[in-house]
Amino acid sequence: MKHVLRLLGIVLLGILSGPVYGQDKIPLLISGRKQTSLSGRVQNGVTYVDLQKTARSLGLNVELFARSKQAKLTARGFYAILTAPLREFIVNAKSAKLTEPVQIDGSKILVPVEFFLLPEVQKAVGKEISFSDGKLQAERRFNLERTDNGVTATENRLVFQPRGQVTWSSQAPNPHTVEVVFPNVTIKRDENFRFKTDFISSVAIRQDRADAKMKVILGKRGSYWTMEEVDGKIYFRVGAGKLAPIPSAIPVQTTPVAAETNTAASTNVSPDEIEEMSAEETPVTAISAAVSPTGPTMQAAAPATVMKPGPAVAMSSAHKKMRIVVDPGHGGKDPGALRSRVREKDLNLAVGKELYKLLKKGNFEVKITRDNDTFIPLSERSKLSNNFKADLFVSVHTNSSKNRNANGFEVYFRSEKATDKEAAETAALENEAMQYEEVHYNFVDALLQSLAKNEYINESSKLAGYVRNEVYKQPGIGISVNKNSSVRQANFYVLKGVQSPAILVEMGYISSSKDRGRLTQSKVQKNMAQGIYNGIYNYAKNEGWLQ
Ligand SMILES: [Zn+2]
Repeated sequence: MKHVLRLLGIVLLGILSGPVYGQDKIPLLISGRKQTSLSGRVQNGVTYVDLQKTARSLGLNVELFARSKQAKLTARGFYAILTAPLREFIVNAKSAKLTEPVQIDGSKILVPVEFFLLPEVQKAVGKEISFSDGKLQAERRFNLERTDNGVTATENRLVFQPRGQVTWSSQAPNPHTVEVVFPNVTIKRDENFRFKTDFISSVAIRQDRADAKMKVILGKRGSYWTMEEVDGKIYFRVGAGKLAPIPSAIPVQTTPVAAETNTAASTNVSPDEIEEMSAEETPVTAISAAVSPTGPTMQAAAPATVMKPGPAVAMSSAHKKMRIVVDPGHGGKDPGALRSRVREKDLNLAVGKELYKLLKKGNFEVKITRDNDTFIPLSERSKLSNNFKADLFVSVHTNSSKNRNANGFEVYFRSEKATDKEAAETAALENEAMQYEEVHYNFVDALLQSLAKNEYINESSKLAGYVRNEVYKQPGIGISVNKNSSVRQANFYVLKGVQSPAILVEMGYISSSKDRGRLTQSKVQKNMAQGIYNGIYNYAKNEGWLQ
């Protein structure tokens, strides 16, 4: 009776607590080793994992925004924004959809495990990620795998399966040691094991930066060794004397040739003959890594519209005067970059206001996103520009770098791809402003913005070129403008949602004492604004706005 009551209680509790799902611990294996247990759940056949812990364990940076129930994941050249309780999310400026929505469980954000199988995520963490048998596995992106080994009365062999072209060089620093270097090769996993035979004593295979290295200690009868490629596999063999050719010489040991599958260890190896040197390692049997994700498939959004040359965008506008939005970056609680009591937001505002004045005096209709030290969310800035039906959007910023020697003026325009590493870093730095926007930053806006067409890239790059050229010509600035490399493309969030040609000006580096010293002078600020103005003027003239 007591049992029945208790059972009834459990059943009732189950009913009262809503949808039935299994609470689970999901093991995360990195390169075959168990890294951690992720809390998760299985609901309606979909496995959810703790977003924060999974992302961090895989090496992604995670920021959580409690009020907006969002998570921002970043790595070099990668970002994703997920929001509870939505299926839509943003990955690298594109929108995509999960099969089930992101969930909140107490302080945790739970995400369908399929998210981590996205090619973008795998690329960002530099690993191949798969989910099967309730396990999340991450493996190095390898191009060489030791798939097999064999032991006979006359030899020991190691068999490697290369993916693509793999070369090696070998040397014997002493009669008992063979060292092999595979240049620019990533081995599936480091291994360390011992043969209990007389040919090979031990084998250590490890990744050493870009190269894979193998060190073999020969056994007392291991006096002859050879390494060769036969039928797309690489054989390292050790014997007591000259070895017969592969594979006919030892037909019994020849493992079935199946190029794509990871064959299990040769059956000739008895457990007594091989011994792992690390308790955690399981080198003898290659764990299947190329398992295709069994999770639900991702419905990625359609690729971004391809840019078309088309007619000049500016000409198609209904109004007669060119409308320009000047956007001094940051403001209020978001100071932007800081150095030696100089705040980026103040420099941006000073130059932005000068530029605004010049444009007002010229034949333009102008709006400025802020004319004092207030905080404006990024999404508000692009909204203001779109409501104004702006023809140009010019965001004014000051760069910053850990490298004190970095200096100079740069102009960026929007692109899906940053042109180089530094451009990607700059974009990441500016995007940090998002952390000040917990309340205002609105996912739906971002989603719409991320769908903004690419058709303005052409115009933006023209504008960027004009501005760069004019700042270069402008006297009295004293900040270097590299004519060749100072127009860059980067993935700035602020430029994303703007429905017009848009550029982001980095006036110089606040982290450079030289640039900082210049940019704090009001004369330099005026000259900088004049240079930017001249660039805009030339663009407007060439696009037929001015007679
Ligand atoms: Zn900035």
